Amino acid sequence: MASIAFVDTETTHLDAEIGEVWEVAVILRETDDNTPTDTEYVWQIRPNLATADPESLKIGRYLERFVVPPHAEAAWTGYDQGPVLPMMRKEVVAAVMDVLRGAVLVGSNPGFDDRFLRKLLGPGSAQWHYRPVDVATLVAGSRFGLASAIRAFGGKPSETDVPTFPFSSRAMSRFAGVEPPGDGVAHTALGDARWVRDVFDAVTGGAA
Ligand SMILES: [Mg+2]
Repeated sequence: MASIAFVDTETTHLDAEIGEVWEVAVILRETDDNTPTDTEYVWQIRPNLATADPESLKIGRYLERFVVPPHAEAAWTGYDQGPVLPMMRKEVVAAVMDVLRGAVLVGSNPGFDDRFLRKLLGPGSAQWHYRPVDVATLVAGSRFGLASAIRAFGGKPSETDVPTFPFSSRAMSRFAGVEPPGDGVAHTALGDARWVRDVFDAVTGGAA
């Protein structure tokens, strides 16, 4: 089975044609002898702020959380309370490429992360599987399935049990029984990647 990469990025803009990614978190799930192992990775990359949308920076709390030292292009920031390790941008690009090679991306609206990661890595470097999985859509599918089953047995699903468009990631998370992260954790790349993983695990019931 392919490895699964729960991903989240924080960016300087909603549009990857304009902005850049400044924080990347990946939780790589590799399965060996039926035993899954999750490994967490977090990097920050100094972005070009000239094209940044102040609102996007505010959402990810860029000013508060960007910890790449002034002399460095990027850093490993994956040690909780531990040291920030300065890196070159090309080293982060190589590391992200390596971690994601052959993996199925799982995210909350992963097309967004896919676009920004492709821009970061450059042409030809995106070697993850071409079909990312959106956890909100996965939960919605499970709810539609449940509604169908209720109807098949002559029942009537309650209106609040059937998803409506556009899907809300927070509503879908609650459908799956996972309380979305609160202030301080939401919109950090690692906090969001862990949230995606928890929703994925809840909706697949450990079957994937
Ligand atoms: Mg995020």
